[in-house]
Amino acid sequence: MSDESLAERKMQFLFTLRTRGVTDKRTLAAMEKVDRGDFLRGLFAERAYEDMPLPIACGQTISQPSIVGLMTQALQVDPRHRVLEIGTGSGYQAAVLAQIARRVYTIDRHPRLVKDAEVIFDRLGLGNITTFAGDGSHGLSDQAPFDRIIVTAAAEDPPGPLLAQLKINGIMVLPVGQSDTVQSLIRVLRTETGYEYEELRPVRFVPLVEGLARDD
Ligand code: SAH
Repeated sequence: MSDESLAERKMQFLFTLRTRGVTDKRTLAAMEKVDRGDFLRGLFAERAYEDMPLPIACGQTISQPSIVGLMTQALQVDPRHRVLEIGTGSGYQAAVLAQIARRVYTIDRHPRLVKDAEVIFDRLGLGNITTFAGDGSHGLSDQAPFDRIIVTAAAEDPPGPLLAQLKINGIMVLPVGQSDTVQSLIRVLRTETGYEYEELRPVRFVPLVEGLARDD
C-alpha cells in the first residue's frame, strides 16, 4: 500500500469512528496511535481499517474498531488507572487501553493468543501491558482491586469475582447475554453501597468460556 493511500485509509478510519459515536479525545488519540494492521495476519491485515470484526487464530475475532472505541470511551480510563481486560484475543484492545492507562493486565484462555500478543506488545514497545493465560472469569485476585475492568467476551451475567475485584467508584464494561441471541453492552459502576447498571447498546461477542483452552 502506498503511504498516501495508507494515510487516507487512516483518516477514513478515524472519521468512521467519530460518526459511530466515538468522540472522546483520549480514545481517538489512542486509536490513531495503534495500528490495527499490526494485530492481523495475511490478507486480513489489508482490511484492518474497515469497521468490521475479523478472524484471528483459535477461532476467535478481533472486535470491530468502533466497538473497541465505544468500550474504551465508556470505561473513562485515565493515566493513573490499572485496568484488567478479560479476552486478550489479538491484543488490539489492550494496546489501545495501554496508550491511556498506567498498566493493563490482560488475560485469555488461549495460551497461543497470549503468546502471539506478547510478541506484538514487545515489538511495539508496550511495556505497560502484563499478559496472563487462564480463565479470566475468576479475575486476577493477586493484582486486585482494579480501577477499571473490561470484558471482551459475553457472559450471561457479570462474573461475581470481577464485580468483587472492582474498586469503589470503579467502572466495568462488558457484554452480557446468551452468545447466539442478542447481547447488551453494559456499564457497571461500583458505589459505596453496591453496583449501578447501565445498558449502552446491543452488541455481538464470542462467548466467555470456562477454563483454560487445551486445543491450541
Ligand atoms: N479484545 C480482543 C477481542 C477478544 S475476542 C481484541 O482486541 O482482539 C474474545 C476473547 O475472549 C477470545 O480470545 C477468547 O479466547 C477469550 N475468552 C473467552 N472466554 C474467556 C475466559 N473465560 N477467560 C479468558 N479469556 C476468554
